[in-house]
Amino acid sequence: MATYFVLLGPPGAGKGTQAKLAAERLGLAHVSSGDLFRENLSAKTELGMLAKGFMDRGELVPDDVTIAMVRDRLQRPDCKNGALLDGFPRTPAQAEALEAMLSEFGGNVSVAPYINVPMDVLIERLSGRWSCRAAGHVYHEKYNPPKVAGKCDMDGSELYQRDDDKAETVRRRIEVYLNQTAPLLVHYRQKGALVEIDGTLPIDDVSRELMQHLGAAQS
Ligand code: ADP
Ligand code: ADP
Repeated sequence: MATYFVLLGPPGAGKGTQAKLAAERLGLAHVSSGDLFRENLSAKTELGMLAKGFMDRGELVPDDVTIAMVRDRLQRPDCKNGALLDGFPRTPAQAEALEAMLSEFGGNVSVAPYINVPMDVLIERLSGRWSCRAAGHVYHEKYNPPKVAGKCDMDGSELYQRDDDKAETVRRRIEVYLNQTAPLLVHYRQKGALVEIDGTLPIDDVSRELMQHLGAAQS
């Protein structure tokens, strides 16, 4: 049976950073809805154009298009053993749709790690975030600087600061998280899948703890 993990936490908690490391170690696909929207945006697809307005305002892209995009991604061959989901689901309707999809594909959400970081840390995290153009690898100017300024350690591509990481948009994204996404913590806790990880620890410590939970579920 395929194994699916859902990473939960507010914007800036470290989901993308951890998902990239863990997916590689576990040999699972990393499925990030934000990365998928950004790929569509740079390819100027119809979906990218539709998503842009919502992303610029720090709002969620409507459920129907988001669900269809993720469904399509989860059916690609690299997801045959499962996936590490990052940034999806973000609403109760998305969580329900995910469960319906996974029962159709023959899998379920076995663990939902919640990377817990207090709200006051998030603005500093996001205002210092630099992302790579080629694959969305993530750096922080203070906490995780690249070896060469402005260049990705992994693929040498240019690093840039996301438009939606400015303080005003970040505040809106946090509000949206609290209203629409935080209720999922209760949902996954009730299913017995939620594990809480202290996201204020250094990146390597968070990774170690996360791998303990994910590795145990996979073996
Ligand atoms: P998310 O995907 O949850 O929005 P990211 O993985 O993009 O979060 O991380 C947000 C920012 O915080 C990035 O600049 C990243 O380098 C930095 N970061 C991630 N984890 C930690 C950590 N444990 N300690 C300090 N900074 C971190
Ligand atoms: P972060 O982890 O830093 O909050 P993401 O890269 O996950 O950012 O998401 C960036 C933006 O993409 C969100 O603010 C939202 O507009 C859109 N988005 C990403 N995932 C979803 C989702 N599951 N549902 C709706 N919108 C989404």
